Amino acid sequence: MTRPEPLPLGARIGILGSGQLGRMSAMAAARLGYRAHVFGPEADGPGMQVAAIRTVADYGDAEALRRFANAVDVVTFEFENVPAATLAALEGRVECRPGLRALSICQDRVAEKRFLEAAGVPVAPWREVTDRASLEAALDSVGLPAVLKTTRLGYDGRGQAVIRTLEEARSAFARLAPHPLVLEGFIPFTHEISAVGARGADGTVAVFEASENEHRHHILHRSVVPARVAPEVAEEARRLVTRVAEGLDLVGVVALEMFLLPDGRLLGNEIAPRPHNSGHWTMDACTCSQFEQHIRAVAGLPLGPVERRCDVVMENLIGPEGLAAWPPLLGRSDAVAHWYGKGEARPGRKLGHVNFLTFQ
Ligand code: AMP
Repeated sequence: MTRPEPLPLGARIGILGSGQLGRMSAMAAARLGYRAHVFGPEADGPGMQVAAIRTVADYGDAEALRRFANAVDVVTFEFENVPAATLAALEGRVECRPGLRALSICQDRVAEKRFLEAAGVPVAPWREVTDRASLEAALDSVGLPAVLKTTRLGYDGRGQAVIRTLEEARSAFARLAPHPLVLEGFIPFTHEISAVGARGADGTVAVFEASENEHRHHILHRSVVPARVAPEVAEEARRLVTRVAEGLDLVGVVALEMFLLPDGRLLGNEIAPRPHNSGHWTMDACTCSQFEQHIRAVAGLPLGPVERRCDVVMENLIGPEGLAAWPPLLGRSDAVAHWYGKGEARPGRKLGHVNFLTFQ
């Protein structure tokens, strides 16, 4: 494939979404000489605060989207719950990277699992659940314990329930919405790992090292790199991400969350077609971060290096405890801290993160 022309310096990169991922993408775009035009409903979102150009509007505002499409050279998004209709409205007017297909697959757990299986990424046993009868058929097929999940709009453990009995399955089915749901076998994993890869506009794929992820209350607490797993496992994780990036045919960054089984096999759990929290370690441990990599891909630049320069532990700064941890962190010589500029330190809210670096 021939390399398309990269966007010239000063070009405008449209970013749908004004959260912290949009913020860090916009900052990377500025460093590479581009102007980020952030589109989202929150006037003071983390991304809006650093944007070169802003559109504060709802994702369904057709007139605002039309103006946005005319004002930017390319569009990307910072979270996969941007309505598919928003990207559909933009796609005929301006290049969208990633495009509608990748977004649609990753918005729906059933489509995502079908895609992963077709791409050669093993997944937990699963069945779609549309009604009480299919719930019982799914329990017969998948077995117990299991996890019942909404197919759409779940994140940080919301929209899912662990099921140990038929009664629990019935009450979770009644409680969880919207339907349909998906029932998955409960995986007795030894580790949760993930890896972030990028696919350039010329089809080149580059994947960062896998990270080992620890969650607390369903929210990512810490990512450790290198992951404390066998080197073959870490390499296999990168191969699986390559399959995902190629199969989605996307341009941009993509993350794959995986479960490591006691026998050393990896199962794909979730795809994020965007920079991912478990890739924040790259900001300070690599010469090119996941955000720079994303902007490079979206702008048609060659992808950057993915080598790691030091060992790193990334910790999220969450809620009031995260706020309290901030001042002492600034005095540490091994810590690089990042704050997102969110207003209130509500419990469970991701306010920033810190990378602890160890040079051998
Ligand atoms: P998800 O929203 O699919 O990323 O799930 C959130 C978290 O719930 C994961 O990071 C796991 O810790 C846990 N989890 C999800 N699915 C399963 C499963 N099938 N078996 C065991 N734990 C799971």
